[in-house]
Amino acid sequence: MVNYLYIHIPFCIKKCIYCDFYSIPFKSHIAEDYIKALCMEIGLRKDVVGNLTAIYIGGGTPTILSEKEITGLFKAMRDNYVIDNDAEITIEANPRTISEDKARKLLDSGINRMSIGIQSLIDKELITLGRSHNAEDAIKAVKDVRSAGFKNISIDLIYGIPFPKFQISNFKFQNWEYSLQKTLELEPEHISTYELTPEKDTPLYEDIKSGRLVMPDEGVISEMYYAGIDILKEHGYVHYEISNFAKPGYECRHNLNYWDMGEYLGIGAGAHSFFNRKRVANIRDIKHYIESINDNRIPVAEEHYITNDEALKECIFLGMRKTDEIDMKLLPDKKRELMKKAVENLASHGLLEIKGNYLRLTRKGLLLSNEVIVQVLLSLEESRPS
Ligand code: SF4
Repeated sequence: MVNYLYIHIPFCIKKCIYCDFYSIPFKSHIAEDYIKALCMEIGLRKDVVGNLTAIYIGGGTPTILSEKEITGLFKAMRDNYVIDNDAEITIEANPRTISEDKARKLLDSGINRMSIGIQSLIDKELITLGRSHNAEDAIKAVKDVRSAGFKNISIDLIYGIPFPKFQISNFKFQNWEYSLQKTLELEPEHISTYELTPEKDTPLYEDIKSGRLVMPDEGVISEMYYAGIDILKEHGYVHYEISNFAKPGYECRHNLNYWDMGEYLGIGAGAHSFFNRKRVANIRDIKHYIESINDNRIPVAEEHYITNDEALKECIFLGMRKTDEIDMKLLPDKKRELMKKAVENLASHGLLEIKGNYLRLTRKGLLLSNEVIVQVLLSLEESRPS
C-alpha cells in the first residue's frame, strides 16, 4: 500500500518563459470538470492507498484553485483514505494566488506546508522570466502565509537567470546574493535553489539562441551555487540535497521519499506514480484525462516494470542527489566491483569522497552532479554482458 500521494493541478496564470512542465491557462469551467475528475480518481485508486504520511499538491499553480475546490479535494481524500494526524501536507503556491485569508482557509483544510515559487526578488529578473508577480507581491505572499499561521514555509529560488543583451550585467551575482538575503529575512523553514536550465521548446531557449537573452558565464553560475550553499549553511540551514536546504527537522518528507525510491501514487493529468515496482504515467492531456475518468477507467498512459538493473541504477541516481553518504555495502558485490574503477577515478579528481564503504559527492562534485552520476551509471552499463 502506498503512503505518499501527489496530486497534480496543471493550471497557471500564465506560462513562464523557462517552463517545460505541462500546464495550461486557468479556465474556471475546465478546472471545475478537472476537480470532479480528480475526486473520482481518488476514489478509483482507493485499493492501493494506505495511511498517508505525506500529500503533495503540485503543479502548475494549485493555489489558483478556489478554497472551495481545494476543500473539495480534501473531502474526497478523507472519504477514501486515512491521513495520518501528523502527515506533511504541502501545496505549491504562486505569490499572486495567495492571500492571508486564503492561506488561513487552506490551513483549516489540513494543509500544513506551503511551497511558494518566488524565484527572484529582483523585479527585472522576474520580468525576464515572465513571472506573473513582482518582488513586492512575493514578499507580501510569504508574510501573509506566515500571519495566517503556517509554521512550515518553503521558498523556491532560481539562479543563473539570463539578462537582455543590452543590459549591463555586472550585477548578476549581487542580484543572487540580494535575493538570498531578502529570502532569509522572511525566515522560511525550507529553501530550494535551482539553476536555470534553458530547456528545448521553451521561449527561453529560443531567446538565448537568437541572442536576445544572454546567460551568465558558467564561472558566475558556479559561484552562485557555492554562495547559496555557504550563505544558507551560515544561517542554520542543512544542505540535504543538491538543490535543497532546510532548518533541522524541516526536510521535505515527500521529496525524501522520492529520492529514497519510496513508493508514491500520482493523481491527475500527467501525474507519475511508482508502486509495485512499476513506474506509471497518467494521461497528460487534460481533456483525455477527464474522458478516461468519466468512463470509469484509471487514466494510465504508460507503465513500465522496473528490472533489478534499472532499480539499482535509479537507486544510485536518486540516492547520490542527497548529501548523505551512500552505503555501498547495500549494493550487490558484483555491481560494487564494477563501479570501483569509475568511483576511484572520480574520487581522484575530487568529485567523490570515499570513506570505507561510504560514498558521497564532494563540494566540487555537487556542482557537476549530473556528469558525475552519469559516469557512475555508465560504469554499470559498460559491464553488461554482450
Ligand atoms: S508558475 Fe510554475 S508551473 Fe506555471 S508556468 Fe510558471 S514555472 Fe511553469
